[in-house]
Amino acid sequence: MKLKLLFVSLMTFAGFMAAAQSLDRPKLVVGIVVDQMRHDYLYRYWDQYGEGGFKRILNEGFSCENAHYNYVPTVTGPGHASIYTGTTPAFHGLIGNEWHLRNSRRGMYCAQDDSVSAVGGSEAAGKMSPKNLLANTITDVLKLYTYNRAKVIGVSVKDRGAIMPAGHLADAAYWYDGNTGKFMTSTYYMNALPAWVNAFNDRNLGKQLFSQGWNTLKPIGTYVDSERDDNPYEGKLNGEANAVFPRNIPFKDPTSYYTLLYTPAGNSLVTEFSKAALEAEQLGQDEVTDFLAMSYSSTDYAGHLFGLHSVEIEDMYLRLDLEMEKLLRFLDEKVGHDKYVVFLSADHAVAQNPQYLKHKNLPVDYFRGWRMIDSLKKFLEKKYDPFLIDGYSNGQIYLNEDRIVSRKLDRKAIAADLKKYVRAWDGVIDVVDRDDIPFLTGGNPVFPMIQKGFYPPLCGDFYVIIRPGWFESSSMTGTTHGSPFTYDTHVPVLWYGWKIPAGKSYAKYEITDIASTLSFLLKIPLPDAATGRVITELFD
Ligand SMILES: [Zn+2]
Repeated sequence: MKLKLLFVSLMTFAGFMAAAQSLDRPKLVVGIVVDQMRHDYLYRYWDQYGEGGFKRILNEGFSCENAHYNYVPTVTGPGHASIYTGTTPAFHGLIGNEWHLRNSRRGMYCAQDDSVSAVGGSEAAGKMSPKNLLANTITDVLKLYTYNRAKVIGVSVKDRGAIMPAGHLADAAYWYDGNTGKFMTSTYYMNALPAWVNAFNDRNLGKQLFSQGWNTLKPIGTYVDSERDDNPYEGKLNGEANAVFPRNIPFKDPTSYYTLLYTPAGNSLVTEFSKAALEAEQLGQDEVTDFLAMSYSSTDYAGHLFGLHSVEIEDMYLRLDLEMEKLLRFLDEKVGHDKYVVFLSADHAVAQNPQYLKHKNLPVDYFRGWRMIDSLKKFLEKKYDPFLIDGYSNGQIYLNEDRIVSRKLDRKAIAADLKKYVRAWDGVIDVVDRDDIPFLTGGNPVFPMIQKGFYPPLCGDFYVIIRPGWFESSSMTGTTHGSPFTYDTHVPVLWYGWKIPAGKSYAKYEITDIASTLSFLLKIPLPDAATGRVITELFD
C-alpha cells in the first residue's frame, strides 16, 4: 500500500516535472506580408473593417505603430529578404527585384536560378530558388535548430514572396503561375507537386473567382475614404474601357489568369491555398513549431494600376480584412486559439500618384531617369568615351570599369563631371559615389539607408537621390514605390496570438527587428546576419 502510494506520487511528480520542464512554444508561426500595405491603411478604412480581421489583430494584439524600412530600395524582393533575415541588402545581397549585371548587358532577377526547373507550371515561371539570397532566414534557423522536424512552407502569388520568406531549407515554396492559373514550385524543392496541390489546382478556383466579377463589397456611396471611382489617375484592367465598378470581364484563357492578380481574387487564392497547406501538411499539429510564410500581393498589383486613393484599393482592403477574419478563424479551429502566433507586415509601402499631387499644387513631379542617362551618355561621350555607362538600375548608375582601365581614363575626373551633370537634373537632390558610401556621415538621413542597401559586389557606381514625392514612371496613372521616404518605408508591424500582449508602441522600430524578435519568441538562435533589435515591449 505504502509502496503503491509512493509509486503514484513519484509518477505524479515525474509528470509534474516533465510539464514544468518542457519549454512552452507556439505550435505555429504565421508570417503575413501584405504587398504594398501602408501603415495608414489600418486606420484609413478602420470604420469600414469588421471585428474579426485587422481590428481583432489590433485590439487583441500588439502594434508597432512607427515601424519603417531602413534601407533603399523599398521593393518586394529585398523587403521579404530583410523581414526574414533580419538584415538588409548589405548582408543578404538582394539589392533589388532585379539588378544590372556589370559588363554583361544583362539583368538578374532576385529569385532567378537557371539551374532549376519548373514543377507544375510554365518553365519560365519555375526557374526560381533562393540562390541569390546570401544570408539565412529565421525560417532556416528554425529548420536547423529542430533538425528538420519543423515544417516550413511559403505561399504567395509572387515567386519571390514565397521563396525568400521560406528560406533555403524550406519544405516548399509555392507561387502562382499567371500563365496557367496554377500554384507551382521548382525542382529546388521537389520533383513533383504533392497530391493536395494538384487537387487544389484541379478546382480551378481562380477562374471561378474571376468569373464572379468584382463589385464593391459595400454600396459604393460609402467609399468616402477614396477619390471618386472614375478618376483620371487610374489605369485600366486588361479588357475594360474604364476603371469603374462593377467589373464583369468575361473569363479568357489564359490572359484572365494574369488579370485576376489585379483583383481581390488573387488574395482569396492565397488564403484558400494556405488553408489547404495547413490541413494537408498538418501544420501546427505537433509539439515542434511550424512556420507558414504567406504573402498577399494583389494589393500591390492593384496599387500600381489604380493608385492609392482609388475605390479599388479601398475595396481591396475591405476584402482583405475578410480574408484575415477567415484565416484567423481557420487557425483557431485547426491549431487552437492562443496556440499560434501571427505577425503581419508589408514588404514596402507606396507613394501617392505625382500627377494627382501636382494638381493639388504640391511640389512633386516625375523623374525622367532614363532620359537623364541618355543625355549623360552623350555628355560623357564628347569628353571621354562613348561606352562609359554600363547600366542603370535601382537608381544606380554603373560605369564600364573595363573601359576606364583599358583606355587609362581618369575615374576621379569622370566622377566629378558625372556628379555635376546629374545634380543639375530636374528632381535630383544628390548623387553619391560608391567609393564614398562607407564614409557617409552627417545629417542626411538617406545616407545610412544607402549604406544598408549597399552590397559592393552587385551595386552600381553612383546612387541618385531624388526628391521626396518624385518617382520614375512611364505612365501618368497608378503609382509605385522604392524611395527612402516615409510614404514608402512606414509599414504595419503587428503581432497577434500566443503570449502576445495587447498594446501599442510608438517607439521607432525597423523592419529588421521582426526576425530578431521572432528568435526570442521561439527561443531559437538569431539568423546569422541579423542586425535588428528585439521589440522588448512584447515581452514585458
Ligand atoms: Zn510593387
